[in-house]
Amino acid sequence: MAGNLYGRDGAAIGSLQKLRFFPLAVAGGQGARLVEEDGRELIDLSGAWGAASLGYGHPAIIEAVSRAAANPAGASILSASNAPAVALAERLTASFPGRGTHKVWFGHSGSDANEAAYRAITRATGRTGVIAFIGAYHGCTVGSMAFSGHSVQADAAKADGLILLPYPDPYRPYQDDPTGDAVLALLKERLAAVPAGSIAAAFIEPIQSDGGLIVPPDGFLRKFADICRAHGISVVCDEVKVGLARSGRLHCFEHEGFVPDILVLGKGLGGGLPLSAVIAPAEILDCASAFAMQTLHGNPVCAAAGLAVLETIEAENLTTAAERKGKLLREGLARLAERHELIGDIRGRGLACGVELVRNRQSREPARAETAKLIYRAYELGLVLYYVGMNGNVLEMTPPLTMTEDEVRHAVNLLDQAFTELSTVSDTLVSQFAGW
Ligand code: PMP
Repeated sequence: MAGNLYGRDGAAIGSLQKLRFFPLAVAGGQGARLVEEDGRELIDLSGAWGAASLGYGHPAIIEAVSRAAANPAGASILSASNAPAVALAERLTASFPGRGTHKVWFGHSGSDANEAAYRAITRATGRTGVIAFIGAYHGCTVGSMAFSGHSVQADAAKADGLILLPYPDPYRPYQDDPTGDAVLALLKERLAAVPAGSIAAAFIEPIQSDGGLIVPPDGFLRKFADICRAHGISVVCDEVKVGLARSGRLHCFEHEGFVPDILVLGKGLGGGLPLSAVIAPAEILDCASAFAMQTLHGNPVCAAAGLAVLETIEAENLTTAAERKGKLLREGLARLAERHELIGDIRGRGLACGVELVRNRQSREPARAETAKLIYRAYELGLVLYYVGMNGNVLEMTPPLTMTEDEVRHAVNLLDQAFTELSTVSDTLVSQFAGW
């Protein structure tokens, strides 16, 4: 269990940086396992929110990062003018099925990438309005919070002209319409009420992640994009958490039969190193380049990690692996649902999986405290996962794409035990740890 590091990090690192769910302080990791100071191993069903796409200590990342770090490229770290960054940008644009010329902007996090996309599109079009969704978490910078709709950021200043729509949630449908058409009708209504040509972009997660790992109804994104485009609004897909093979396709939007105007990637792109990217039409990214001075964006070490991630996804067939292992995980969870009444809904694509916990399957009352206890007990048993959702009642599973099938089965068994033993966790214990 937690050792000396846990106390020291609490004393030295501000809570602004931390979200505590349980007393984990990691000393190391290998594959899909994390190791605490005393050597205890835990299966990482979160993959640190999807960032550890290749797990921990993957040889491809170690080799690529070591090589880039050993190359004295210090003089060329500015402005992504280095071989790994250029090669990564070429690879990313080649993977994007959009028409016309696309370019890439590199950042360090999902937050700065979403903000850069917003900055670029508003600058390029001269429009300022944005459409986004209730429950969306696009980042923690002032800019990205301004068009996010998650309850954890309820007190953040919002962008002028922001239109926030309910996300089409088949389990908790807006106006009891599971097709999502009621949301589209609301979108049309809201657009009719603002000056024509005032909205620059619509940000949408093809699976709403921090809002509860919600998969929209089939066809919704395509219809949503059609309406936006009829108003000259660019559609931005935020795939920071669910992109790059996690969903069982390289890009999550591929499930929906449409191509966004702009794609935002982060987390898993760097395989644990700070790296994000915006892929957008040249006229948008060329327009914005004039007013940014960015020192380490696209630095060779992080870019080399990104290249290693993309190469490994291809070499190890991680896209189909994610689909296969995700199915195995959801089948296991479905068996747990036969025994554990708390499980209200199981959803996801590939290795992006959500389990919504409810006190009553009819009323669907969110089981918030039980969810916190479940993840606490799971941690005690050797399993790391976190919760998301506006009600804090959805277990989120975004493990390394390299997790083995045996580890998936073992994780399900540990979850089974955690559900059975949830009442061993006291309210006081859980309330010591911050949640949302
Ligand atoms: N977009 C999405 C969809 C996310 O899930 C997150 C983080 N949870 C972000 C953006 C922000 O990314 P970061 O934490 O890397 O800034």
